Amino acid sequence: MSWEVVIGLEIHTQLATKSKIFSGASTAYGAEPNTQACLVDLGYPGVLPVLNKEVVHMAAMFGLAVNATVAPRSVFARKNYFYPDLPKGYQISQYELPIVEHGELFVSDAEGKEKRIGITRAHLEEDAGKSIHEGLDKSSGIDLNRAGTPLLEIVSEPDIRSAKEAVAYMRKIHTIVRYLGISDGNMQEGSFRCDANVSVRPQGQEAFGTRAEIKNLNSFRFVEKAINFEVERQIELIEDGGKVVQETRLYDSDKDETRSMRSKEEANDYRYFPDPDLLPVEIAADFIESVRAELPELPDAKQQRFVEEYEIKKDDAALLTTSRAVAAYFEAVAAATDANAQLVANWVVGELSGALNKDGLEIGDSNVPAAELAGLLTRIHDHTISGKIAKQVFEAMWAGDGSADEVIEARGLKQITDSSAIEAVVDKVIEANPGQVAEYRAGKDKLIGFFVGQVMKETKGQANPGQVNQILKAKLSV
Ligand code: ADP
Ligand code: MG
Repeated sequence: MSWEVVIGLEIHTQLATKSKIFSGASTAYGAEPNTQACLVDLGYPGVLPVLNKEVVHMAAMFGLAVNATVAPRSVFARKNYFYPDLPKGYQISQYELPIVEHGELFVSDAEGKEKRIGITRAHLEEDAGKSIHEGLDKSSGIDLNRAGTPLLEIVSEPDIRSAKEAVAYMRKIHTIVRYLGISDGNMQEGSFRCDANVSVRPQGQEAFGTRAEIKNLNSFRFVEKAINFEVERQIELIEDGGKVVQETRLYDSDKDETRSMRSKEEANDYRYFPDPDLLPVEIAADFIESVRAELPELPDAKQQRFVEEYEIKKDDAALLTTSRAVAAYFEAVAAATDANAQLVANWVVGELSGALNKDGLEIGDSNVPAAELAGLLTRIHDHTISGKIAKQVFEAMWAGDGSADEVIEARGLKQITDSSAIEAVVDKVIEANPGQVAEYRAGKDKLIGFFVGQVMKETKGQANPGQVNQILKAKLSV
């Protein structure tokens, strides 16, 4: 029997506000425990939450970016449960009336075709605190700095059909929230994490199977691995005559497996009800229009523009638009050189990204700024150096040895275009390889590569490849 995988993701994005969602305490990461939790975050009796207007603005931006409805009226609700990191005994969230509903986005499916994934809703809520066990002897600590940090929880329709698609969807959301500047998306710091709901059904069956929910996945790699493990587990279970039970599971990355955390029967009844301390959020139509007017160019639109305007490959356009900073860098280089835009794209996606990765740098901190890379590509374009030598020049530029022109000058890397100089080397190579010359003349055309290689070796890669080819062919055919 063949099985179809069904996945829905719940993504928690931390919104990049300076202060918390219902208090003035700072949201800055990494402070001493409990130095950024005020009485509101601690849930002291008598305190009142006040909604941070910025989170409404950010949620509206997200809603518009994914073609969703931004609700004219949404309501905060209390989700009641007891846990040490939640001193109030309830989390303020949105339940029946979320701020964003009915969105969508598009990813490439397994065949590379465009695939729509529905976004059921996105709602605002506060984060809880954090339990600390490390370094504490026989006791646990609570750090409430996180308590009250604003989150946007983005819930997808069960439209996703593979672990790869789930990752593509999550990456797309990640790109969008960073484009909008509403979240830093930092996964190590917990600003972007997801719960994956996974089920399987026999191919062709309409009804969904029972799902398990894998909690708190904080890397793209873990999302893919956890889903793949879970799918295998469920299929094996069913094929062995068992039944999947609805439950919450945890992914153990060390063992690469998911484990049951609690079953549906043990699940909390959250007793949601509207929070009496907060007014409903009412959003006027003109506010929504003003937010729409300030939206930046979004990843899909930018990608399409790059393909049309610069005539670069779609895959490269996709890579170049994963962040606004990378896209801006590419455009700055393209504007500053006459070199072909595809060459620019190749260099940004290739050499530059490689160097950044190796040194763990963001593009904003690149050792080679856009204008400098443009200078290098211009020298390829005007045939001062070959693409191969350019890689050597780039390495020197990266190491801080100066501009492209300075490196080329200091190291004498200018391309040899003087035909008499090239002819002299060609003659030498022909003379040194009589065997190959005879074979070539007897019809073994492929040997041209060997001769080109020899000439390049003699000239340390500096001879103009076009000329080398031409001169070699002329001399060998005599
Ligand atoms: P809950 O609030 O209990 O987590 P929801 O109905 O809001 O449940 O669904 C949460 C997520 O689970 C959504 O992303 C949804 O698409 C997904 N989902 C629902 N049913 C299934 C299923 N049978 N298989 C996989 N995912 C599912
Ligand atoms: Mg859930």
